[in-house]
Amino acid sequence: MIRGSCLCGGIRFHFARAVTQIGMCHCSQCRKVSGVASNAVIVVPAADLAWLSGEDLRETYAKPSGWRTTFCRRCGSPVPQKLPGTEAYWVPAGVLDDDPGLPVGGHIFVGSKAPWDEIAGPAPQFEEGIPGAKRT
Ligand SMILES: [Zn+2]
Ligand SMILES: [Zn+2]
Repeated sequence: MIRGSCLCGGIRFHFARAVTQIGMCHCSQCRKVSGVASNAVIVVPAADLAWLSGEDLRETYAKPSGWRTTFCRRCGSPVPQKLPGTEAYWVPAGVLDDDPGLPVGGHIFVGSKAPWDEIAGPAPQFEEGIPGAKRT
């Protein structure tokens, strides 16, 4: 099991497997929600993720566009959120306590990255989303 937790430790979860590599999103919304150059996320089937504590601490903020983030209302850490209309969780890789054993698979929304953002590594870069994939 790969374990994860928020900064204050109130929210804890674990999951058995991910179905993606680590995706780095450089869009302006992910910058604001993370405070850094890009958001590192993986996708986990809902059936494979279990909450261990802190379900009452989870809060979700949604923009009118539908873009949303789920976070700990005590410490502000982003935590897994169920993707609307799917049976999958969007899991922020930075809150994992174990090594998920996954490489960075790609960078998305590179076309709107911050001017000071320097992307390193061999993973492919996409101006917008990964062609054929969709995030609501
Ligand atoms: Zn917390
Ligand atoms: Zn993004």
